[in-house]
This record gives sequence, C-alpha cells and structure tokens, in this order.
Amino acid sequence: MKIGFIGLGNMGAPMAANLVEADHDVIGHDIHAAMPDGVVAAISAAGAAKDADVVITMLPNGAILRVVADELIPAMKQGAVLCDCSTVDVESARTVADHAAKAGVLAIDAPVSGGIGGAAAGTLTFMAGGSDAAFAIVKPLFDIMGQKAVHCGPSGNGQAAKICNNMILGVTMIATCEAFALADKLGLDRQKMFDVVSTSSGYSWTMNAYCPAPGVGPQSPADNAYKPGFAAELMLKDLRLSQQAAVAADADTPMGHLAALLYESFVESEGGKGMDFSAMLPRFEKRHRG
Ligand code: NAD
Repeated sequence: MKIGFIGLGNMGAPMAANLVEADHDVIGHDIHAAMPDGVVAAISAAGAAKDADVVITMLPNGAILRVVADELIPAMKQGAVLCDCSTVDVESARTVADHAAKAGVLAIDAPVSGGIGGAAAGTLTFMAGGSDAAFAIVKPLFDIMGQKAVHCGPSGNGQAAKICNNMILGVTMIATCEAFALADKLGLDRQKMFDVVSTSSGYSWTMNAYCPAPGVGPQSPADNAYKPGFAAELMLKDLRLSQQAAVAADADTPMGHLAALLYESFVESEGGKGMDFSAMLPRFEKRHRG
C-alpha cells in the first residue's frame, strides 16, 4: 500500500519503520522530527496524503489533529482511509470522521496501548472506531504494527475504549501505590505484600505486570529509577480526556476524577513530570495523613 504518515515522534517513527520493513511505501511528514530510514519525506501533510491509500496520523492531541485533518482530507483520494492512532478526545475523533465522510474519505480512530516499546516491537493493541469497510482496509497494517486490533464500533468508539481503559489503569495504579505505602507503614515486607496480593483478589495489571515497588515482581520502570515507560504526564492527559468525556456524557466518575486531580498535582507541583506513572509510590511514601 501507499501510506502517508503524519507525526513521526516517539510512537509514530517506530510504527512507520515497521510498515517500511513490511515493504509498504511510506511517505511521512512531521513539523520537527526526522524521518526514520526508508520513509520518504513530504514537505506538507497534504503532500504525504495525496496518493495514499491510507493516511496514518500520530499526533499530540485533538486540537492538532483537527488542524492537520483539515489539510489532509481535501488532498486525499476518494475511498482512501484516514486512520488516526493518536489519543484524542472522542468529540474530535467524531468531528474528523464527519468531515472525512462529507469528502468521500473513510475514517477510523485507532488509539493504541503498548507504549514506545510496543511501537518498536510491533506489538501494539489498536482500539478502532469506524465502519467495517475502513477497518477491513487498515487491519493488515494493524497486524504489522501490533498484535491485536479490536473493532469497537462506530467512529469515536476506539477513543472511548482507550480512555475507559486508561481511567481504570490510573485509578488502579494509585490504589496499588497507596496500598504499598500503607503496608510499609504497617511493617509488611513488600515482597510478602506482592506474594499475597498478586495471587489474591487485589491482583491487577499494575500489581502483577507493572509492579510500582522496585525489586518486586517482574522488571518494570520502578527497577529503572522510574524512568518511563508510560510517563505520568501522559497518564494525566488520558485521565483529563476521560473526565472531559464523562462531563459531555453526564457520567458519574468519582474515582477517575480524583485520579486526574492526583496526577495533576503530581505532574505540576510534586516533581512527577518526566517520571513513570508508577512513581506515585515514592510520592505516597513521603506523605502523611491529612
Ligand atoms: P511525540 O510528541 O513524540 O510525537 C508527536 C509528533 O507529532 C512530534 O514529532 C511532532 O513534531 C509531530 N507534530 C506535531 N504537530 C504536527 C503537525 N501539525 N504536523 C505534523 N507533525 C506534527 O508524541 P508520542 O509519544 O509519539 O505520542 C503520539 C500520540 O500517541 C499521542 O496522542 C499520545 O497520547 C499517544 N500515545 C503515546 C504513548 C507513549 O507511550 N508515548 C502511548 C500510547 C499513546
């Protein structure tokens, strides 16, 4: 396929490199980042899009996506697919899809989980929203860049799945970290805490697979001085998107709301910026009640 790729940052560059490796023609555009080997540079987003069968975007947020989509869509071939893999608000995903439909372009929102490691290894999970026709065209590319793609329904549903998943992740990480900090103060050894919880009803991905306590459980960013991994500011972004969606949909999400506030303080005033989101554990360790 001829693929346009817009946004070749931490995630986009390795994803595009995997498409090149699989013998696709990839034309890229980024306002700052250099092109990975094998990706031909276009001077504009429209230039990367005009002959493409699929255009993939991997951009920082919904506002930037909307601007880039306004440039891309009129340049794209009829029946081509605009596949946005960025994490953005549900509203932006649906607006871009409407705009694309009016121009005869198919659209799919397909945010990912798996982080930079998953992007490099081609093991991302894609959560896709859009028509069956659009999903069928892009699925072979998801299979190259990832190990799983779930079609979640119409446009916006991929973003809905992503923010619901990450709201659970943020809340669960906080719960795991505060429980470790309490266990410390009660004199319970961290390894014993892991041995019990990881095989009891408190188990979770954050405990079992990404344990926030250094030296406990499988290797995780905690074992690398909390270098991300998944940065606390990206978790804050996703929690804010979940709360933006909850307000728009009139959903009561008290735990998600509190998790957003805690990550906001952590990132903006407690030194959490640039650290992995599991560094909530040293944050709780230092604190006292009240
Ligand atoms: P990044 O900042 O490294 O990459 C974004 C790229 O977009 C940059 O290279 C930037 O120059 C480019 N860009 C910005 N505006 C542009 C424009 N108008 N035209 C062309 N290029 C433009 O970010 P990232 O870590 O690669 O994340 C990308 C998306 O993936 C985000 O939405 C993020 O939330 C999501 N995501 C990231 C991770 C992660 O672990 N990094 C995990 C899952 C999802």
